[in-house]
Amino acid sequence: MNRLGARNPVSRGLYGLPVDGSLTLQVCADCAAVQYPPRELCRACLADALAWRRVDGSATVLAATTLAHSLEEDFRARLPWHVASLALDAGPVVFAHIEARHARSGIRLRVANATDARGAWCLVAFDAAARDPLAALQATQHTQGMHA
Ligand SMILES: [Zn+2]
Repeated sequence: MNRLGARNPVSRGLYGLPVDGSLTLQVCADCAAVQYPPRELCRACLADALAWRRVDGSATVLAATTLAHSLEEDFRARLPWHVASLALDAGPVVFAHIEARHARSGIRLRVANATDARGAWCLVAFDAAARDPLAALQATQHTQGMHA
């Protein structure tokens, strides 16, 4: 089964989102709560009126870690790999690929939708002050094999 086939129907909405340095997540039409991970009902008011909308990707790193091992061949070639949990200003906590220099809690980054070399959806976080997010993404180790 490929990764898309392994996703539940709601999460399949993540595929095909713009990969342009912006962040698109589900947003409740009734109360405006931003949802992550994707759901069928709003986490705040239980409405089922959720739509994919561009949201503010500003975030603070909560915790970061460095992976020294991976079962995925694509990742194994690029170890060590850096990931972090980030609190979005828009509400949810997400996990994203980061650069080594950003692997510390408390720093401000910007989160964006991305896809990896196999087309699997993922999130990346990069310098919030980057003038050109796509250039910043392409300059990092985690996007060398990713489509921008
Ligand atoms: Zn709601």
